[in-house]
Amino acid sequence: MEAEPGFAHSIDQLKAGVGAVDALVAGISHVEAAETVRSVGYGGWPNMIGEMECDGAVMDGTTREVGTVGAVPGTLHVAALAREVMRRLPHVMLTGQGARRFADEIGFNTQDMLFPDSKRVWSKKLDMVLSDEERAAFPDIPLVPLSNVITDPERVRDTTVFLGMDQTGGAGVATSTSGWAWKYPGRLGDSPIPGAGFYADSRFGAVACTHTGEMTMRCNTAHSVIEGLKFGLSLDAAVERAAEDLLDLGTGFLGEVVIHAFDTKNNHRVVSMNGEVPVSYWYWQDGMSAPEKRQSDQL
Ligand code: ASP
Repeated sequence: MEAEPGFAHSIDQLKAGVGAVDALVAGISHVEAAETVRSVGYGGWPNMIGEMECDGAVMDGTTREVGTVGAVPGTLHVAALAREVMRRLPHVMLTGQGARRFADEIGFNTQDMLFPDSKRVWSKKLDMVLSDEERAAFPDIPLVPLSNVITDPERVRDTTVFLGMDQTGGAGVATSTSGWAWKYPGRLGDSPIPGAGFYADSRFGAVACTHTGEMTMRCNTAHSVIEGLKFGLSLDAAVERAAEDLLDLGTGFLGEVVIHAFDTKNNHRVVSMNGEVPVSYWYWQDGMSAPEKRQSDQL
């Protein structure tokens, strides 16, 4: 079975001795370009007004340096762009037009990001929920009421998160997503938010979350797992402790959350909360002849 696009590229880079962040970005760039991946990059979904706004991030667990970009228009390779924020600027995060301006300045092409099938599905959804009058005036209509009937986090599955450790023991993480389908313009999920959607610390491990960012941003979930490891919990206990905080939420938008984590003692854990079916993920470690597709635990 062929693994997730780009997974083999990251493995090749790690085998060749490339550092974790570069190896992960090399792989994730293939996911961003793949039309078949319907939650990330070109195959992803637009916001409520039909514009693609992507989020991406990287974190180097050795230096704890971070680069993130959020709600970036017209940009395919947002994880690579986030890496450039980390390397070239005295900042951690750029959003919207500022991120796009930075992309222009360093040679990332503007790209038409709206995949024809995504446009078709978005347009059909608007036809279903808007009156003829609202449809004619769109997008110059109040979007707040529409937000509650149209936003569709269930359409988004498996924001791509790549976690890895390089030959020097450096842990890293990279994320990339188009976020919730039909989200309110400017909405950021957890994928560009350090501590919520991702965290890496080469002393302890690396973590990334997918699905309902509106929950992990309230619980600082990725860092919460690392904090558990720091205070001596096993990986299982650290993940379950972070999951308890999510499961305790009783208000706001509640949905599925998946936590992906590994520690420096050769353990990894992927758990899914509030989901109906386990989530698949790809796993490889040195010594395995090929990556394996595995299933999350359900909490
Ligand atoms: N966590 C992402 C977000 O909130 C979406 C996802 O992973 O499905 O934007």
